[in-house]
Amino acid sequence: MTLASLKNATKAFFNGLTTPCAKIGIPSAMKVKPMTQDIQHEIEHFMNGLKKRNPQEEEFHQAVGEVVHSVMPFYLDHADYRKAQLLERLTEPDRIVIFRVSWEDDQGNIRANRAWRVQFNHALGPYKGGLRFHPSVSQSVLKFLGFEQIFKNSLTGLPMGGAKGGSNFNPKGKSDREVMRFCHSLMTELHRHIGEDIDVPAGDIGVGSREISYLFGQYTRLENRWTGVLTGKGCAFGGSAVRTEATGYGCIYFCEHMLHQHDESLEGKRIAISGSGNVALYAAEKALDKGAKVLTLSDSDGFVHIKDGLTKEQWKSVRELKEERRGRISEFAEQHAGVEFHRDAKPWGVKCDVALPCATQNELQEEDAQSLVEQGVMAVCEGANMPCTHDAVERFREKGVLFAPGKAANAGGVAVSGLEQSQNALRISWSHEKVDSQLQEIMEGIHERCVEQGQRNGRVDYVDGANIAGFKKVADALLAYGVV
Ligand code: NDP
Repeated sequence: MTLASLKNATKAFFNGLTTPCAKIGIPSAMKVKPMTQDIQHEIEHFMNGLKKRNPQEEEFHQAVGEVVHSVMPFYLDHADYRKAQLLERLTEPDRIVIFRVSWEDDQGNIRANRAWRVQFNHALGPYKGGLRFHPSVSQSVLKFLGFEQIFKNSLTGLPMGGAKGGSNFNPKGKSDREVMRFCHSLMTELHRHIGEDIDVPAGDIGVGSREISYLFGQYTRLENRWTGVLTGKGCAFGGSAVRTEATGYGCIYFCEHMLHQHDESLEGKRIAISGSGNVALYAAEKALDKGAKVLTLSDSDGFVHIKDGLTKEQWKSVRELKEERRGRISEFAEQHAGVEFHRDAKPWGVKCDVALPCATQNELQEEDAQSLVEQGVMAVCEGANMPCTHDAVERFREKGVLFAPGKAANAGGVAVSGLEQSQNALRISWSHEKVDSQLQEIMEGIHERCVEQGQRNGRVDYVDGANIAGFKKVADALLAYGVV
């Protein structure tokens, strides 16, 4: 079936439905997964084994569970995959490096943190995935992120394996010198395990351009050579145009394709965004470019409700507040009339057409999903990694809300990181326009792969589509390699 004929079939299938979901060509209530008992049994059996082998790693169980639920029917249909024990092998990381990071604070106290690099799978290319600095970082969180990264990277079509790393270090409230000492100390160990053809880390929560610069400076000093071993570098020293904006822009490009697939557009849509970090800020900027109305932003203190919609001038002021002054989102409300701050609250009660959770994992729960459904939300795109809990995702799918999982919708960041690696290898820099147009092509390609693999009774299930398309490429590579 071609994409055009699928689109027509989708329209025909839902012709006549009158609920809010039906307006965008989706049934209001549908059993998403006709799952036989045998398949369900295989999933339970597999997940029980995984939980036994990886006790107390709830985030990792959740991420694997989501993928296994989608791919099990496909897996069971392929005797060669089963014989090669591909699911068992793919859920075991190639290796995990755990190390101590000692550093000295401004008062002369000696501090120690724990850091990890989870090199999950490099069947498709050198390991690739961000570093996260946040007190909530644990082995389970990094295994979930590294596992997701395998399939996300596969979906981009670029040659990248999956990895993730980070530390329980909290950069909030630390001086620049303290952050520098921490980054230099972390790289003193990490440099042994990475390289431009081995493993190429990037940023994530708590790791932005300042941290990448400190990490890169220490790497070049230790190795005495300049190489593209990290992405997200400053443009003056090997960074790519559009890398800063890529995840947020990519999320909006994906969302636009998803809406177009259902004869809708972003023009005039009311958008609720959580977070006000890298992903949230640039998703908001691109949404404004597309004529949408951005109603909310948030941080861990609460959310701001911008009743008339964020203006471009206000966007500049919030970018300056968050990126340059490292301020709190409440300050934005204090400085602008018509902006309300809601402490310790999430933005999901605000009436919107599109929701973009762009902060952190499990920030959008079942009751939030219910509230969004009641407000008539038509699409949810995950800018963050696994921001919606399993129950929240199931609620969206049951109610026919278009739902794009992070491994598809937020793949723009790693895609431009891949382009940064290519530019570094060629010792050239491409223009903003060239990189942005490649990003748009990659996001379109990811959308097409989801549509091809996610056809279910004339509708597109983006969760199944992303999981199966991402899995298939890695599984075929592993099969070709033999028993490795
Ligand atoms: P940033 O550190 O730039 O921003 C994170 C934002 O989320 C901040 O506003 C932060 O608020 C908020 N936040 C973090 N933890 C919590 C929490 N527990 N409760 C409420 N709010 C919270 O990170 P990014 O924007 O880079 O990353 C956001 C998400 O996107 C993550 O899931 C990340 O893995 C994912 N992602 C990022 C990519 C990238 O290129 N940067 C690529 C693909 C995915 P506060 O400042 O108060 O902590």
